[in-house]
Amino acid sequence: MTITSATFVKSINGTDKILYDGKFQIAFVGRSNVGKSSLINSLVHQKKLARSSKAPGKTKYLDFFLIDNKFYFVDFPGYGFAHRSAEQREHFRKLMMWYFEYSEVKRRMVVHIVDSVVGIMEFDTQMIEYLSKLGIDFVIVANKIDKLNHEQRIKNIEAIQKSCIDHQVIPYSAVTNEGRAALLIVIEKSL
Ligand code: GDP
Repeated sequence: MTITSATFVKSINGTDKILYDGKFQIAFVGRSNVGKSSLINSLVHQKKLARSSKAPGKTKYLDFFLIDNKFYFVDFPGYGFAHRSAEQREHFRKLMMWYFEYSEVKRRMVVHIVDSVVGIMEFDTQMIEYLSKLGIDFVIVANKIDKLNHEQRIKNIEAIQKSCIDHQVIPYSAVTNEGRAALLIVIEKSL
């Protein structure tokens, strides 16, 4: 699959008709700084479509991008910058629960991005358990793989795979685009 067009549609923070227009939704979640926006930009071959978690105002909303006029990328706020307040964390939790449990969106999958250098953190474990419990389809993308040498890469990918045995782990680099083709295949199959 190739992506030929990707445009920002809107940011939402609660119920909105875009959720129910029948288009498939691919939600991107991950801790702040795992490279979520870099990864989305590498997938769509644009430098600035998705904004980094460091950008002001990136803590509240779900950003919807229309891909090839067919489906949406839904970019979650990055979870857990140290300076974020308890209030913001609570907002994030509510946003997740609302989108995944109460919104009744039926056609979707999740791309859960982890940092292959630091490995699985508490948020990642919770996310894996949460999505598994809800029976939501997800794939783990281990980003920043370009930072690891051969041995580290094998060791870290094995460790990540252990924490989500039944799910595919895709080594990825938003810098070299390694893993891009593999992730696009997963996305295409889910549509
Ligand atoms: P976000 O907060 O998850 O959206 O992360 P960003 O996309 O803003 O990336 C955070 C930092 O990691 C930036 O300095 C990026 O340049 C860097 N980064 C993102 N992806 C990669 C990657 O695949 N490899 C390397 N080496 N650095 C990356």
